[in-house]
Amino acid sequence: MPYTYDDQNIFAKILRGEIPNDTVYEDEYALAFRDIQPQAPVHVLVIPKGPYVNHDHFATAATDAEIAGYTRAIGKVCAALGIAPGDDGQGYRTIANSGEHGVQEVPHFHTHILGGRMLGRMLK
Ligand code: C5P
Repeated sequence: MPYTYDDQNIFAKILRGEIPNDTVYEDEYALAFRDIQPQAPVHVLVIPKGPYVNHDHFATAATDAEIAGYTRAIGKVCAALGIAPGDDGQGYRTIANSGEHGVQEVPHFHTHILGGRMLGRMLK
């Protein structure tokens, strides 16, 4: 499906450095920053550097290198923040709201990383 990317969306402005953010990780494929309305002790958004509207757009139009780089960036963020599951019993949840029924607000693909506490069993 063709998508039209709005380069005035707030995450595009963050990528261009026009709006400040609390960056926790950055590489050539992704930028990760703390959500301004955190829903958990750790709540970070990871966005690809390319102009993708939502997960569907990203999964169908991004290059394999972009997809791999972005996916690995999420892992690096979790490791850096000390929430990767391991012997300490921690862990995290990733969520990518896409489109109207996904209740996506910002039209630049992003993945929420939530952690730092025991999360509820059900998604809403
Ligand atoms: O619903 P959606 O997955 O699009 O969520 C967008 C997220 O972006 C919200 O959790 C909101 O708090 C966050 N946000 C942010 N910084 C902004 C604007 C929105 O962290 N400047």
